[in-house]
Amino acid sequence: MIKKKYIIVIQCHIVKEYCSGFLCEHTFNKRVDCFSCYDSNNNLRFLSITCGGCCGRSTLRKLQDFISQAEAREKIIKNEIVVHLSSCVSFESFHGPECPHKEYISKIITEKAGLDLVYGSRLSPITEARRKKNIYKTR
Ligand code: SF4
Ligand code: SF4
Repeated sequence: MIKKKYIIVIQCHIVKEYCSGFLCEHTFNKRVDCFSCYDSNNNLRFLSITCGGCCGRSTLRKLQDFISQAEAREKIIKNEIVVHLSSCVSFESFHGPECPHKEYISKIITEKAGLDLVYGSRLSPITEARRKKNIYKTR
């Protein structure tokens, strides 16, 4: 089990125009899919934000604000925070191809903000089956 105090999920700003993000939080609450590695009995907290729109540059400002607020108000340090790039950012799905700026945003998270990074959040069984069959492969 990974001992973290805060999970931040970064969702695609475009997809969030029509997705509430409920299934990401629901998946976290059930500790399944990409959240299955976290202890269900701790006080792990969850916050979802968006990348702010292409190219994801505002992610750094949002994360820097989070880091400074979490440390000042709750004594939560960087090592206790983990960022998940949601499945609609990390992987191809019916929402579209994976984020074209994924590498750039990943560097912002790990190198600029200095936080741990995990790819994915909710894994829809239908979408996973399609991925395995390469149905989403770009033609
Ligand atoms: S940068 Fe990527 S995650 Fe952000 S809005 Fe654009 S496509 Fe979506
Ligand atoms: S991973 Fe799914 S539930 Fe989460 S924000 Fe993207 S589309 Fe919505």
